[in-house]
Amino acid sequence: MSHERLLDVRNPRTGENDYRIAAAGDETVAAAAQRLRAAQPAWAARPLDERLSVLDEWVAAVSRHREGLLEALVADTGRHFVSSAEIAGLGGTVARWSRLAPELLAEPLRSSAVPGISYRTRLVPIPLVGAISPWNFPLTLSLIDAIPALAAGCAVLVKPSEVTPRFVAPLSEALAEVPALDAVLGFVQGDGATGVALVDNVDAVCFTGSVATGRKVGVAAAERFIPAFLELGGKDPMVVLASAEPKQAAATALRASVTATGQACQSIERVYVAREIFEPFLAELVTAARRVELNWPDIHEGHIGPLIFERQAQIIRVQLEDAVAGGATVHCGGEIETHGGGLWIRPTVVTGVDHGMALMREETFGPVLPVMPFDTVEEAVALANDTEFGLSAAVLAGSLDEAEAVGRHLEAGAVSLNDGALTSRFYEAEKDSFKYSGLGGSRMGPAGLRRFLRRRALIRQENEPATIEALAERLGRP
Ligand code: NAD
Repeated sequence: MSHERLLDVRNPRTGENDYRIAAAGDETVAAAAQRLRAAQPAWAARPLDERLSVLDEWVAAVSRHREGLLEALVADTGRHFVSSAEIAGLGGTVARWSRLAPELLAEPLRSSAVPGISYRTRLVPIPLVGAISPWNFPLTLSLIDAIPALAAGCAVLVKPSEVTPRFVAPLSEALAEVPALDAVLGFVQGDGATGVALVDNVDAVCFTGSVATGRKVGVAAAERFIPAFLELGGKDPMVVLASAEPKQAAATALRASVTATGQACQSIERVYVAREIFEPFLAELVTAARRVELNWPDIHEGHIGPLIFERQAQIIRVQLEDAVAGGATVHCGGEIETHGGGLWIRPTVVTGVDHGMALMREETFGPVLPVMPFDTVEEAVALANDTEFGLSAAVLAGSLDEAEAVGRHLEAGAVSLNDGALTSRFYEAEKDSFKYSGLGGSRMGPAGLRRFLRRRALIRQENEPATIEALAERLGRP
């Protein structure tokens, strides 16, 4: 359509704009929503087994299109291993919800405490769910909420990030091979304006992205009285107690911070270490951090990829400069490097930091580890909780019980004990986002599907219904 804007897409390994999308305008989004909405009642009416086998057919179709999908994800993110894992994860996500769905969607008849009354809770899917996703895990985060919503009987309209949109073309080819799913799962491409239009056209919105955008989405959803499930940013702390083994703790902190070049919401972004082990921990951390290699020039070598989003490199640079200006010391990394046109940064360990610095307050979204010593556990807990965010956190200690005793006090929705960032590997436990890290029902655990169902109570009177005589004044006479 003539009014659709073209958006350039940058390749993070070359720095070149080598792809384009047409941003869907209001009418295109409305038409996509209407098409999905029309097909949803028939989808919801299918027995659950049928819906689940359609999802299985789709997983098979996706695996037939794996090469094209991988190529697109690699071009958008500059990383091979993580892209491959994103594709492999799709089958696992469908299998997990297929296992859970029968129990979650059961509608048993229940007796009640009121004589003669029984009831059934009818689970009515929200007709059209919208999903808006960020650029850091393009495929995973575009489908993470879509899959349980589809299993629940909803139709889903997804708007992926304009920074990493290439996977939509090969994924749509796979989708076209499964017409039953194609009818109820759609994609619209575009930037924030397309996102605004999507929120205007759906019955619930799942948003994954920054706090600033999440707030706008939450306000727009509130205006329309539709649920908004907001999965936002983090500034995850790790507390390393004196009983932790320094070398192992340093290795864990490093992995949990630099995985995906730190471009993960659950990355460890602040480390508080008991003063007794601060020096050995720091020495081990710097040694291990220096061994981490960029996956450049060979994408199949090294550990970490480029910075995907050009503007993120600027945020990281400014935060580091501000910290150094405030007296911080950078022990390794610290520079945005240019290789082949892409922007990269090596794992960066920083000390001499305090909570007045943006590096300790704002999301960095890079492989940067600021480390601070603490003297008492109370101080460590206070420092960890001194943040606007509350996504997740971690505690390392000599024993799990000791780690848990501290983890209970951390103001975050998920706390990894004797590891970091476990929410990237484990989805069974429900967790809420605390503070500005989000709003709405848990994406993980049973609530991850239940939040797409409205409850209609079907209340059965098994006796004779009361008549007006039951209200006769004489019955209440003293
Ligand atoms: P972003 O907020 O800039 O964009 C996210 C999405 O929102 C994009 O698709 C964008 O086009 C769209 N958008 C922009 N303006 C909009 C508007 N007004 N209405 C509707 N949609 C709009 O975030 P980003 O930079 O793409 O992603 C990085 C952020 O995502 C980080 O803060 C990270 O922590 C967060 N994140 C959170 C989780 C989680 O599960 N909590 C997971 C991954 C990433």
